[in-house]
Amino acid sequence: MLLMIATTHKPATDLGYLLHKHPDKLQSFSLSFGQAHVFYPEASIDSCIAALLLDVDPVGLVRKKGSQGLEQYVNDRPYVASSFLSVAIAQVFGSALAGRCKDKPELAQTPIPLVVKLTTVPSRGGEALLQSLFAPLGYIIKCDRTILDDKFPQWGESYYYNVELHHTIPLQELLSHLYVLIPVLDDEKHYWVGEDEVDKLLRHGEGWLAKHPEQNLITKRYLKRFGRLVRSALTQLVEDNIDTTEQEEIVEERLSLNQQRLAAVLAVLKQCGAAKVIDLGCGEGKLLKELLLDKSFTEIVGVDVSSRALEIASERLHLERMPSMQRDRIKLLQGSLTYRDKRLYGYDAATVVEVIEHLDIARLAAFERVLFEFAKPNTVVVTTPNVEYNIKFESLPAGKLRHKDHRFEWTRLEFQQWANKVAENFSYTVQFLPIGDEDSEVGSPTQMAVFSSKK
Ligand code: SAH
Repeated sequence: MLLMIATTHKPATDLGYLLHKHPDKLQSFSLSFGQAHVFYPEASIDSCIAALLLDVDPVGLVRKKGSQGLEQYVNDRPYVASSFLSVAIAQVFGSALAGRCKDKPELAQTPIPLVVKLTTVPSRGGEALLQSLFAPLGYIIKCDRTILDDKFPQWGESYYYNVELHHTIPLQELLSHLYVLIPVLDDEKHYWVGEDEVDKLLRHGEGWLAKHPEQNLITKRYLKRFGRLVRSALTQLVEDNIDTTEQEEIVEERLSLNQQRLAAVLAVLKQCGAAKVIDLGCGEGKLLKELLLDKSFTEIVGVDVSSRALEIASERLHLERMPSMQRDRIKLLQGSLTYRDKRLYGYDAATVVEVIEHLDIARLAAFERVLFEFAKPNTVVVTTPNVEYNIKFESLPAGKLRHKDHRFEWTRLEFQQWANKVAENFSYTVQFLPIGDEDSEVGSPTQMAVFSSKK
């Protein structure tokens, strides 16, 4: 299978810098499933074409799996653009995919005219699928369908396409689109998908997937329809984020718990004298709104993984129409709390209000390091539901969590054990405070931990 990337950017040979592969050389790489070769059929100032040729070894593949049977050897895998190609892009063009360019760093971020040619792309969903995946990203798509066998035209057409994509964008964006969308077209993956595939999808989908109209289909196919993974990815993208707090509020309405929660968090922030505050998982910005009203908060930042939630926050806060003095105090950032991120450094206090229960338990450790080891604000306020209290919510069926995206809800003991361990590991002290009406047996509806740095 062959991938060709062409540009007419001037000088076109800059493509060699972007791909970190010299236009004059043929380079070969051994991958787990065969060989990848990179060469340039054309390399002049006006036009440059880089080719990635994959030579998949079907016999080696079968041996590796240790299975038998002829159909294992005779299949389309060696010849089509599939998840092998994504792996090859990541391994052979890894720097370019990450947006790094040693010699011309600014070029990596610059939109340049690009044309991609892909041979034998299996599109389970035909031309319509190709269009619906690439057109929303701004590509002009040309494709022709190949017939199954030119010796036997009566066999009819195949679902393989030769595809040409035209766009003017940074090379990194193009590669990340291909990386995610090629296996989606093919709808098969040669390897097991696990938790780390969710991260890969979010990483390579950053900046575009959350806005893509076909994000559900992309996510489902990319994750091979593993329900749990798909849910995890989708919720991190957008899905329920918008109505997250609304749903919880319906359950918790009687108490106007949300108001009490905000008041409690604000009180802590005032008490510790924080001026620069970062609200992690800010959602639609309810806390940000309160913070803006108080002049003692000079720098206010909201972070959320969901671009849709941030859009709503921006509208609710009227950011567009805000006078510039006020506008300078607040910033919204899209980002995931489970990745180390320099933008989170340098704040007096971080708030994490009703967010941890949306993270997969397996990702909590990553979140802990991101916040307590790297960002390490002086004060961290974490709130989360107290599951013991759920029996008091009349509208909530027994055993159900308060929101369908909650991965867990903890008892007071579970929360305190977690928080104590975090405090110990990262040199913080921690105090626990109830939020909402306290019941003598089951405690309060929301529980809050306030961490203070020892250093
Ligand atoms: N703090 C807000 C919103 C709580 S809902 C409030 O109290 O109203 C949980 C929020 O966490 C959602 O907006 C969701 O998009 C966000 N979220 C979930 N996983 C995240 C992650 N890995 N990184 C950043 N934000 C995340």
